[in-house]
Amino acid sequence: MKQSIQILPDNIASKIAAGEVIQRPASVVKEVVENSIDAGARNIVITIKDSGKTLIKIADDGNGFSPADLDVAFERHATSKIKSYDDLENIKTLGFRGEALASIAAIAQVEIKSRTADEAVGLSMKVEGGVKHDPEPCGMEPGTTITVKNLFYNTPARRNFLKTNATEFKHILETIQRAALSYPDIAFTFISDDDTVFSVHQSDLFTRIGELFGEELSEGLMECNEETDYLTVYGFLAKPEFSRRTRNEQFLFLNRRYIVNRAINHAVYRAYEHLLIKGSYPFYVLFLDVDPSHIDVNIHPSKLEAKFDNERSVYGIVTSVVRKTLAENDMMPSLSMGDAAGPDEHIPASHNRQQSTLHMLRVNPQTGELIEERRPGEQNRTDLNLFQRDSFKTPQRKSEGTDRYYEPEPEQTKQESSTESGLIYQLHNKYILAQIRSGLMIIDQHVAHERILYERALKRFTTENPSSQQLLFPETAELGHAEVELVKEIQPLLDTLGFDLKIFSKNTVIIEGIPADVRPGYEHNILKKVLDEYRSNMGAQIDVRDNLAKSFACKTAIKSGDSLTDEEMRDLIDQLFATEMPYVCPHGRPVVIKLSVDELDKKFGRT
Ligand code: ADP
Ligand code: MG
Repeated sequence: MKQSIQILPDNIASKIAAGEVIQRPASVVKEVVENSIDAGARNIVITIKDSGKTLIKIADDGNGFSPADLDVAFERHATSKIKSYDDLENIKTLGFRGEALASIAAIAQVEIKSRTADEAVGLSMKVEGGVKHDPEPCGMEPGTTITVKNLFYNTPARRNFLKTNATEFKHILETIQRAALSYPDIAFTFISDDDTVFSVHQSDLFTRIGELFGEELSEGLMECNEETDYLTVYGFLAKPEFSRRTRNEQFLFLNRRYIVNRAINHAVYRAYEHLLIKGSYPFYVLFLDVDPSHIDVNIHPSKLEAKFDNERSVYGIVTSVVRKTLAENDMMPSLSMGDAAGPDEHIPASHNRQQSTLHMLRVNPQTGELIEERRPGEQNRTDLNLFQRDSFKTPQRKSEGTDRYYEPEPEQTKQESSTESGLIYQLHNKYILAQIRSGLMIIDQHVAHERILYERALKRFTTENPSSQQLLFPETAELGHAEVELVKEIQPLLDTLGFDLKIFSKNTVIIEGIPADVRPGYEHNILKKVLDEYRSNMGAQIDVRDNLAKSFACKTAIKSGDSLTDEEMRDLIDQLFATEMPYVCPHGRPVVIKLSVDELDKKFGRT
């Protein structure tokens, strides 16, 4: 009979941060389930009653305890998982302190039944308030079942600190979800007060996420996978439209151990930033694997927090990986790995130099008519490699009277990029259909224009480079007191957008000029519309510039129902793909949908 559990010498034990191991029923579930995982279980069944307050029972089909191991397992610092301090540097198991069983047995009535594959029968043993009873033989399959009854029965003060059943249940559920996510190859069944909360099979991570959070979410999952010298990142991110109202469904695992790390959460969030509606958080299940010598998981007894020796590079890598995944799924432009802020060297030169044209609409001072004028736009930051894939690209063409300049495309880009004949069509005055190399691209004209105007407005705020069209006949706007106060408050920003306003009285503002981006036919009441939208967004607490840019974009953008000429559609597409995030509108809605010829072929049964 082999004994593998040893008592750690005191000097080692004291080096391990001690502390409260068991704070609530969920802590028992966590410790015992982790032991089952460490014991190589393939099936784990968790049964609770009364949110774990009266009963927690965890059954596994792992290695089991040998009789000798059972004899010492409930001693403090009894562990089979590390033998010396140096082993702490290289922990492969979830547990290592040898504290959990001892702590649980000290404050509850515990019964353990266990059998190894080598033994013909199992042993059953009771430990109550830390006092061991003699083990008795019992018939059972190999594995271990631990029953924990009446937690904190002998520490009433602790028991009184327990929260409502709903709260304690939630903690247990989260604990089991985390375990189930990090070990999709293990089957978990969770039963609470005789109801099966969930039962998930041995599978892979993708299936596991679907089983736990629903099929609908699975459809919005994007896989990510990236290996660097320091760190491997893999897992799934949900598309922005599956974002949650709370941060509770962000699962981060370090070497398969669930952790909380605000810096990494923020790194993910940053990559999503402009794709999310304020106050929403992306759903993700991300695994980071790092050489254990780079991390310290021992800083807190609950082992939830982890420190890296190089937090900054972890942050950078995670942001890049998430951005890359979003880009691969057409959510946003990609940045090259390890160069989060720099330009992407894959961009063909012609795109860096290509000028997008902007419509400039001005009032003819002689006639008062609005005139359309074209001029080269500001050079856009093109750190996107959109054109590398099958995105739309305007074919080479020379339109008279413009100073547009198209460089011949380099051979290699030509193959990869799109644009066949440049066929383009407006559907129901709402959607633009364009042929691309891989099939069909459908653009929502309103949100596309919104994205363009939003970015342009933000740019104006930073460059403080307004572009205004003077009204021939200044308009007197009766806005009301509150609105006039608002105008006063944000007038410098309104000015940079291109408004030229004079506060006339408590209720009136005189509009002498409006932003050049306002299209003909959209001038009427434009200030009031923008202000109304701005006010209605204020509750959501978005920042002043962002709110104003969104409100302006929303009210000035081409509407659904507006008919567009071919030329206007092409310009819209040009400008859209010169933005930083062509695929999502400022509110997080999709701008572009692609339908590939492959997909069409499939639908038509052509194979
Ligand atoms: P730790 O997990 O930190 O080693 P614990 O107090 O949680 O400490 O467990 C003590 C020891 O009991 C473990 O090291 C392991 O050898 C053994 N053990 C605990 N649970 C199980 C189980 N379900 N199956 C087999 N062995 C177990
Ligand atoms: Mg343990």
